[in-house]
Amino acid sequence: MGRDSSSEALVLALRQTGDDHRLATLFGLDRGVYQAMLFGGGKSRLRALVSPWHTGTVWLYGDAKKDLAKISDFDVHKFRPGIRVSLYKTWAATLACELVIKTSASGEYGPCWALCDAFFDGLDQAGDEECGTALIRFLWRYLNLMGLCPSTVACAACGALFSSPVVYLPKENGFICASCANEWNADLTINPEGLAYLSALSELRAGEVRRMRLTEQTREELKRLLFFLISQAAGGRLNTMEAGLGIL
Ligand SMILES: [Zn+2]
Repeated sequence: MGRDSSSEALVLALRQTGDDHRLATLFGLDRGVYQAMLFGGGKSRLRALVSPWHTGTVWLYGDAKKDLAKISDFDVHKFRPGIRVSLYKTWAATLACELVIKTSASGEYGPCWALCDAFFDGLDQAGDEECGTALIRFLWRYLNLMGLCPSTVACAACGALFSSPVVYLPKENGFICASCANEWNADLTINPEGLAYLSALSELRAGEVRRMRLTEQTREELKRLLFFLISQAAGGRLNTMEAGLGIL
């Protein structure tokens, strides 16, 4: 048996496993995604602290070589109560957590941690309408961490620079121009405004991108594309996305 060890952790998910026991999925800054047991009834102090998207210092007791250590304490640094009061924010945060779990934090723990931390802080503080664009930014940056962002500048088939709407072609993992597209998939079409926004996400500072405004149509196009790309990146359908179709 090991002794108590402490480290920084973000709570990703919580699942009931026995009468009063929970299995917590955590994201550790130093060790990526792992699970730990949480004992205690509904009224226990610890149970209220270990809750999704709380960040803090976790104390674990158990064998470090085994996944299932026991959580002996959790000192929360960020509760982010603003997320819980909104259905949309709760859904967006749950989607981000599922993505982190399914992709093992993209294998890039430090940058992934910074991205998630900033996204959850943003959800906590921003209004609902701003959160839709925040989710677009988060998903594109997450794809970037995984090295899966298609070029927003030139056609993946002929190399021509983009100047009009483009379509995403899954088998190329790239955008292609109108002249190269044999068939046009309207669900994966992006207009020049959307492409410029995606480029800005890779090139400009966060504050500058936040000031950019998008038309409703562009926001919808980017959302559709990113949900598709992110499902692909996660190796299949994301449960949160299926469950959230009604509130999107
Ligand atoms: Zn082309």
